[in-house]
Order: sequence, then structure tokens, then C-alpha cells
Amino acid sequence: YSRGLQEKKNSYLYIEQLLKDAIKNNRFISLIQPKVMHNKGYNYIVGGEILIRMKDEKGVLISPESFIKVAEDTGLIIHLGNWIIEDACKSIIELQKLNIPVQIAVNASIKQFENNLIVQVLKENIEKYNISPRSLEIEVTESLFKSDVNKIKESLQLIREVGLSIAIDDFGTGYSSLSTIASLPIDTLKIDKAFTDHLLESTGSELVSTIVGISENLGLKTVIEGVETSAQIEKLKAYEPIIIQGYYYSKPLKLEDFISFCKNYRNISI
Ligand code: C2E
Ligand code: CA
Ligand code: CA
Repeated sequence: YSRGLQEKKNSYLYIEQLLKDAIKNNRFISLIQPKVMHNKGYNYIVGGEILIRMKDEKGVLISPESFIKVAEDTGLIIHLGNWIIEDACKSIIELQKLNIPVQIAVNASIKQFENNLIVQVLKENIEKYNISPRSLEIEVTESLFKSDVNKIKESLQLIREVGLSIAIDDFGTGYSSLSTIASLPIDTLKIDKAFTDHLLESTGSELVSTIVGISENLGLKTVIEGVETSAQIEKLKAYEPIIIQGYYYSKPLKLEDFISFCKNYRNISI
């Protein structure tokens, strides 16, 4: 081993151990980031994306960026994925009780699609919590389609038949062809933050404009991720209707804070 490789292996094993401990001790939490529709001067909250966090033994929060890949490689993602779906259903119940009509999105990774496992888990939870499938959305990344497109398509179709919505995440960063995207049973395209970051430059804004055009032509809703500044918001007026997600509105929040955000936002917009 070179030293770099050994360090990589150590940190990999360390994360794997943290994951196992966190699973044993229920040390995962979920946060929700608001999604706000901008449409002809009307802005309203349409949903929220659930983002997972892991706590270490001292309670320090660990970003999914450092553990999702390990969870996928070790198969532990199945446990995490199931947990987050159930957590989403519980959050939906809480929001419904308060008459907050938003759609909650969960991220799903490729492993969850093996043997259509995710379809079964979604069905079970929707039944168990007796929620409307309309209130749940699944976000999948383009990288899913690097494997067997037809198999994935079949799973997505089944999820759609249950009544859920489907979004393609990080759109524009993967390698899927437009014809693949056009053939998928999906509702929404999410434009990656990498594009948002260049929105105020001319090439960047042309790229966003092209992607929004693709989304519109396919009859899909468009979400733009990682919006942070009012200058970006101003620029995005040209692309309405468009759903904004990013620190401009809010960082991912605990459920109770997401609820306050929704209530306060409603008060402002009325
Ligand atoms: P993602 O699905 O693309 O989620 C968006 C990420 O961008 C989130 O990072 C969010 O906190 C961050 N973000 C949102 N708005 C802004 C902004 O204005 N500025 C900046 N700098 N960042 C912003 P997070 O929560 O660290 O999640 C990272 C990735 O981890 C997610 O990317 C997703 O791929 C994955 N992930 C998170 N939760 C889950 C989960 O429950 N299951 C799976 N399979 N993956 C998850
Ligand atoms: Ca996502
Ligand atoms: Ca994304």
C-alpha cells in the first residue's frame, strides 16, 4: 500500500464502523429543505426534500457526502433507505395534521432498486401510515441509468402506478441521453447546483435556459438547486414557473423548523 491508499482504506473502514454503530443506536436524523414555486409573481411552498444526517458517538453530525457511498458499497444503504422512507411518511402525517399541503421528496439509490425492493417498501409504508401517495416523491440521479435502463424504467413505472411522483436529480451532470430521459415515466427535472453557480455568467445562463427548455418541452416541472442569492432569484424570473431550492430560502431544517417555515411563509404570502 502507498500511504494514501492505506489512509483511504482506514477512513473507509472507519465510516463503515460508524454506520454500523449508528444503525445499532438509531443515530440518524432527517432534515427537510423547502422547495418554493415561483410562478408569475406568486411564490408558494410546494414541498421539501428530506436529507439524511448521521451522528457519531459524541453527537457530531456527519454529512451524507462522507457516508452514502460507503453505505451503498456495503449494502447498508438498504437499511438507511428504508428508514428514510418510513421517516418521510411520519413527517407527511405531521404536516397533514397541520393542513400543510406539501410533497415530501426522498433520495433513493440504485441498490434499493434491486428486485424492485423499493417498490415493496413504498407500498408497505404508504399502507401502514395511510398517506396519499401523491404526497411522496422519489428523487433518483441520472447515474441510475448507467445500469440496465429497462429494469430501472420498469421500477419507476411501478412506483408511478402506486401514485408517487419521480424526479431526476442532478440533471445535466450524468451521461444519460435525451432520448432515455424522454422515455422515462418522470414528473420533474432537478437542475444541479453546478449550473446554478454559473447562472449569472452568459454561458451559464444559456445552459440553464437550455435545460429549462428541455424540461418544459418534455412537460416536466423544473426545480433549480443550490440557489443562494437574490441576484440568482432575479435572473430566474425569466424561467418561471420554476421551483427554487437552496440556501436563499433555507438550509435543510428539522421537521419542527420546517413546519414553522411553512406557517410563517404562508402568513407572509397571504
Ligand atoms: P442532493 O440530493 O443533490 O441534495 C442537495 C444537497 O445540496 C444537500 O446536501 C443540500 O443540503 C445541499 N444544498 C441545498 N441548497 C444549497 C445551497 O444553496 N448551497 C449549497 N452549498 N448547498 C446546498 P446534503 O444534505 O449534504 O446531501 C448531499 C447528498 O447526499 C445529496 O445530494 C444526496 O445525493 C445524498 N443524500 C442525502 N440524503 C440522502 C438519503 O436519504 N438517501 C440517499 N440515497 N442519498 C442521500
Ligand atoms: Ca436530491
Ligand atoms: Ca441534487
